[in-house]
Amino acid sequence: MEFKLTEEQELIRKNMREFADKYVEPIAAEIDENSRHPAEVFKLLAEGDWMGIPIPGEYGGAGADYLTHILAVEELSRSCASTGFTVSIHVGIACMLVLLNGTEEQKKKYLTPMAKGEKLGAFVLTEPGAGTDVMAATTTAVLDGDAYVLNGTKTFTSNGPTGDFYMVFAWTDKAAGRKGMSCFIIPRGTPGMTPGEHFRKMGLRSSQTSEMVFKDCRVPKENLLGKEGAGLVMAMAGFDHGRVGIAAQSVGIIQAALDESIRYSKERVQFGNPISRNQAISWMIANMATELQAARFLTYHAAWLKDQKQGFSKEAAMAKLFASEAAMRHTIKAVQIHGGYGYCKGAKVERLFRDAKITEIYEGTSEAQRMVISGNVLR
Ligand SMILES: Cc1cc2nc3c(=O)[nH]c(=O)nc-3n(C[C@H](O)[C@H](O)[C@H](O)COP(=O)(O)OP(=O)(O)OC[C@H]3O[C@@H](n4cnc5c(N)ncnc54)[C@H](O)[C@@H]3O)c2cc1C
Repeated sequence: MEFKLTEEQELIRKNMREFADKYVEPIAAEIDENSRHPAEVFKLLAEGDWMGIPIPGEYGGAGADYLTHILAVEELSRSCASTGFTVSIHVGIACMLVLLNGTEEQKKKYLTPMAKGEKLGAFVLTEPGAGTDVMAATTTAVLDGDAYVLNGTKTFTSNGPTGDFYMVFAWTDKAAGRKGMSCFIIPRGTPGMTPGEHFRKMGLRSSQTSEMVFKDCRVPKENLLGKEGAGLVMAMAGFDHGRVGIAAQSVGIIQAALDESIRYSKERVQFGNPISRNQAISWMIANMATELQAARFLTYHAAWLKDQKQGFSKEAAMAKLFASEAAMRHTIKAVQIHGGYGYCKGAKVERLFRDAKITEIYEGTSEAQRMVISGNVLR
């Protein structure tokens, strides 16, 4: 058993750290404040081959392993959780869905520009009445000649207002239950598909989230991704990949909370001494560092299993559950260590605290992760 990254993985982590320090950290507070998608950063990420790290070179990616992509998401999220998440859902779900299920033609037409970062992907599953209960979805896709016609309303689509290629899930045969949902690749601008306005959110504010309305939206048959009826299985496999990304996002957030807490507690003097000298403060930092390590190992292990072509569904859920809840626990503590200053705009820990909350909710809530884990261990 080896507890170390390869030289290449270390190098990519270092390069991403430098990239994030130079281009992301300086604007992170501003894009949060203005809920702004930093298109200029995504242009640079594309130029640096960061938008398709685990995608084979023949489809425009960097041809590295999944763990390397996870390291990049972690480092980006350490500076800005929104930017890290946008890369995570684009690569981990949208690109992976096409890589694993697409035809050769679909991979050339859709995956290649996504992996090169020329186009941004989105995952369109959740509906107003169907969150955790995916089976309650009502969006339909009816075959009409050479096209499927989609009708329905999706919500909480990340990259909704900014995306180019949307992976949309709809019932082709509701009566077939779990074998009745299908997935379609729908390019932006397709008549009948309308992204809504960006939602105003507590955190993750520069990641763009919206409704997606489908009204008699005609999608050519060749845009069906995978087999008809295989959509739900594909969505669940997509979640497995995406959840490791959310775990990495959480690890990046905890690392940033720890960095800020160490720095501030050594600088802030009360009663004549740095507050870090108080056991109450230093133990908070000890707990933070310990759970950071545990979260990081769970996350890397899940990614490593994926790279070994082993099952990683349970491990992805465990990593996401633990890392996201740890992110919430420790960003609360990081604010506490900063006292009143941590409660004010301008303190990085204030943003980390708001950003951490979403990691317990999307790509399956903590309760949903416990369902996945218990379903596996009680089998
Ligand atoms: C910022 C943001 C970005 C998102 N991005 C995307 C995206 O790109 N694509 C996409 O498709 N979706 C996306 N989502 C949707 C997200 O995945 C859902 O919000 C999430 O799955 C929960 O669904 P819900 O909000 O409808 O909550 P609900 O399912 O209504 O759950 C409410 C509460 O009840 C609990 N609960 C529900 N059922 C059970 C049960 N059986 N047992 C115990 N507890 C239960 C939940 O855990 C939760 O605590 C995003 C959401 C947000 C907020």
